[in-house]
Amino acid sequence: MISKAFETPIEYLKGVGLSRADVLKKELQIFSFEDLINHFPYKYIDRTRFYKIREIQGDLPYVQVLARLTHIEILGEKHTKRLVAQAIDDTGVIELVWFQGIKWIEKILSVGKVYILFGKPGFFNGKVQMAHPETEPYSTEALQRKGNLTLQPAYNSTEKLKQFSLDSKGLAKLIGGLLEQHLKDIPENLPLYIINRFKLMNRADAYKNIHFPDDAARLNEATYRLKFEEFFVLQLKLLKNKLLHTQKFKGNIFGTVGTYFNDFYHHKLPFPLTNAQKRVLKEIRQDTQRGVQMNRLLQGDVGSGKTVVALMSMLIAIDNGFQTCIMAPTEILANQHYQTIVELIGNDFLEVALLTGSTTKKARKVLHEKLENGELKILIGTHALIEDKVQYQNLGFVVIDEQHRFGVEQRARLWRKNSIPPHILVMTATPIPRTLAMTLYGDLDISVIDELPAGRKPVQTVHFYEAQRLRMFGFMKQEIGKGRQIYVVYPLIQESEKLDLKNLMDGIEVMSIEFPLPQYRISIVHGKMKAADKQFEMNRFIKGETQIMVATTVIEVGVNIPNASVMIIENAERFGLSQLHQLRGRVGRGADQSYCVLMSHHKLSHEGRIRLNTMVKTNNGFEIAETDLQLRGPGNIEGTQQSGVLDLKVANIVTDQELLITVRQFVESIFEKDPQLAAPENQILRQSLQSKGEGLSWNKIS
Ligand code: ADP
Ligand code: MG
Repeated sequence: MISKAFETPIEYLKGVGLSRADVLKKELQIFSFEDLINHFPYKYIDRTRFYKIREIQGDLPYVQVLARLTHIEILGEKHTKRLVAQAIDDTGVIELVWFQGIKWIEKILSVGKVYILFGKPGFFNGKVQMAHPETEPYSTEALQRKGNLTLQPAYNSTEKLKQFSLDSKGLAKLIGGLLEQHLKDIPENLPLYIINRFKLMNRADAYKNIHFPDDAARLNEATYRLKFEEFFVLQLKLLKNKLLHTQKFKGNIFGTVGTYFNDFYHHKLPFPLTNAQKRVLKEIRQDTQRGVQMNRLLQGDVGSGKTVVALMSMLIAIDNGFQTCIMAPTEILANQHYQTIVELIGNDFLEVALLTGSTTKKARKVLHEKLENGELKILIGTHALIEDKVQYQNLGFVVIDEQHRFGVEQRARLWRKNSIPPHILVMTATPIPRTLAMTLYGDLDISVIDELPAGRKPVQTVHFYEAQRLRMFGFMKQEIGKGRQIYVVYPLIQESEKLDLKNLMDGIEVMSIEFPLPQYRISIVHGKMKAADKQFEMNRFIKGETQIMVATTVIEVGVNIPNASVMIIENAERFGLSQLHQLRGRVGRGADQSYCVLMSHHKLSHEGRIRLNTMVKTNNGFEIAETDLQLRGPGNIEGTQQSGVLDLKVANIVTDQELLITVRQFVESIFEKDPQLAAPENQILRQSLQSKGEGLSWNKIS
């Protein structure tokens, strides 16, 4: 909230009234004075200078030209009728055109006179042209008046608003009026020491100048100030929440490392941990000794070894007498985790149980008992394991794999499984750019595994067009000849599901001719199949009974089949970058060289081309995520919809990265020095925290 005065409903603003208020609400979600003043210009029109005609090149916004009219004539008939005029300065010729109000314009313009012309220039038949320019006869007085005009704001409007005379100019008038009346009601909301340190414009000036800049330099200062404030308030809330959370929720203390962990570490772990894995384990270890509930997001590229880290953390929990569970988004993945973990620790070491939708009633009953009496220490499953019927004796550590697919409500249920909530580790293989993580998960702790296990060969990626399909088939045969297995993935997008399925079926038909039985066998998995059938087909592939798996994106997440070393992505141009990266992560898990082939149509959009080039160029998930964010903006990245990122009005986490990082670190330093914001100079910040617009709240995320 800016101040009390700005909470006034918009209908009370002079010049608005009920009907205009109605359209402002409907069209622009402007309900109050505050909403209106936060409707910022999307660009500015430069009336600070005159352009020479020769300077007008390329795509310029509105410009002002001083030129002498040399010629006027009316051309065309009926609806092609137009008034065409010519004007010159000492550098060139400009053509002026009117399609409307011809008679009137003809009357007021006179050949030989000098005019101040204002409009958006264009090019027609190689000539500089302006359609419907504003014209004003030149005079010293007019020139002086125009000379005082500066950058003019241009506001987004709509057809509906224009019917109520609320085009860009109409909105400017309203905002101008509001500022005139209430500029004094915009109080400063940052302490002086911050204003001084970052050389910020004061808040009222910033609002004035972002709408009606005195000049370009003041506009820059105003924009910087408001961006700073926006990031600052958001980070203040996020970090405050994080602090509150640690004060509010007690956590179980894992005081010792016991035999389960040590046995595993010294006798069963089949490889040395990477440094990144060790670092993350240490971070988790510290978290779980503090007596505060842990909420940690573990990011790491596919294949970076998150599962082992999760398992070893679970063993520490078990050493301290607690139960643990891993929750996966699909049955296939739950199965896979189950197998991986049993393989790693062996069933004689610790019992590991699987609970999914397919678990029989009888088996379920046994499981429930063992969970309630505390006998079972490791449970792996889908969301079935947080059903109300499932009661744990003392659940201490929960691993959630691939958080995007779990609803908020599902996560919240975990909390109610124990009087002291379990520690929570959320694992995601979708790398999130640093700045996005700062806003999206700004109140969680974040660990990153940024190192692949030694000896991993990076996946080689190529981009083929349809014309190279035969070459691709040849390559597939060669790899199958070496004993490898291959994924072929088709897009499946909800809106065009039928078409996609047809694509898949056509593809399978071609492939079954190219790869005939009995030499070749193909598994098929797609979204329209029953879970049991999918599982059956998957298993054939996992066991090596089939060499090719044709699938829609159901295999996207987590599946680990080291012998599958080739990933072919059909219609790759239709996948988003993060999806492509996820899919590619399915291969490159064994010792062999792996490949990814991106098949695409020969016609590509600009963005499509960037996506495919990026994939060919790099294997680094964070780099890819960065490009993705730049291409699509934060609004389209999974998970951002529910966050405050999209409410940012001036600041932009892509283009203002540096500022965000600066602000974040600065806010951290404030809380370090003064966690309660008790210092007199920080009182003003407590008010910013209490203001309306909750920002992000912790439980929205995890
Ligand atoms: P993620 O879940 O991060 O995609 P996984 O935990 O499934 O990755 O690990 C991928 C593969 O790498 C597994 O086969 C795992 O056993 C193996 N792995 C994990 N850590 C290491 C390591 N430090 N050295 C060698 N192999 C490892
Ligand atoms: Mg995994």
